[in-house]
Amino acid sequence: MTVSAITPDSLSLIGNTPLVRLKGPSEAAGADIFGKCEFANPGASVKDRAALWIVRDAEERGALQPGGTIVEGTAGNTGIGLALVANALGYKSVIVMPETQSREKMDTLRALRAELVLVPAAPFSNPNHFVHTSRRIAEETPGAVWANQFDNIANRRAHIESTAPEIWAQMEGRIDGFICAAGTGGTIAGTGMGLKAFDEKITVGLADPHGAALYNYYAHGELKAEGSSVAEGIGQGRITANLEGAPIDTPFRISDQEGLYWVERLLAEEGLCLGLSSGINVAGAVALAKALGPGSRVATILCDTGFRYLSSLYNPAWLKAKGLPVFPWLEQ
Ligand code: PMP
Repeated sequence: MTVSAITPDSLSLIGNTPLVRLKGPSEAAGADIFGKCEFANPGASVKDRAALWIVRDAEERGALQPGGTIVEGTAGNTGIGLALVANALGYKSVIVMPETQSREKMDTLRALRAELVLVPAAPFSNPNHFVHTSRRIAEETPGAVWANQFDNIANRRAHIESTAPEIWAQMEGRIDGFICAAGTGGTIAGTGMGLKAFDEKITVGLADPHGAALYNYYAHGELKAEGSSVAEGIGQGRITANLEGAPIDTPFRISDQEGLYWVERLLAEEGLCLGLSSGINVAGAVALAKALGPGSRVATILCDTGFRYLSSLYNPAWLKAKGLPVFPWLEQ
């Protein structure tokens, strides 16, 4: 039996997540598919890594002093990661989100000691959009920094310096492909760059949800979105600073139905409760492994826990309202 050593402090719990072989997807692809268990981070998502690297970068630049404040416009996993990292390092966190977001998310952020600022939903062009509001609050608050996860490349550095070397070591250098979806693009760009630095022959795939513009960009050179998706945290319409120079070889477009198919099977057959972006990543991994051929070894990201979506993905009324299939055991 191998046990891990004592962890010296709570922030050291971020990263070093397990890599699990996924049985059903491996069988479906005739390959070996591995999932990086990012739900095992303290904030239960991949965004803890970006949060830690963004805060450490601000400290190193001298932008964040003891007792300072971290401000970000996000309703999701990044806010949760930033709130936890802020608590661990003695900072305050201010999270700006549209008031249309779910009650669960507001309650979670409040529970984690973040100060919540709710703003009316507005288009990105509106100066009161939550991202612009968060930048303004950071500028106006003494001792505050704006995390700016989309265009702050400390985000992708987290994956160059931690996610990629972990996957490379866990797979003992035997890896043919890596694939995931993009929100800010930090995970795909950073992990892709980091893995290619070990072996440039590793194929990097993009699993793009419907409604995002990146599939068309990497396939045809044109940023164009088609359709829509209910997946949270992914689906990008522009080349963020984190995506600039991302080494993406093979883009795939993955539907919500394909993602939900794997969310259902991984829960029912392997006991893994995941969010929809993880399902879309696994569907992408199956497609990439098939393209790479029998016996190929492909890694992907299991981005966050399904417990975060009990009122949506795991709620029959919500699924029906969205026209999505309901997992059979929820119909009892
Ligand atoms: N899945 C979920 C659930 C997320 O919250 C995010 C973060 N936006 C992603 C995937 C994508 O990660 P990234 O921002 O690194 O592209």
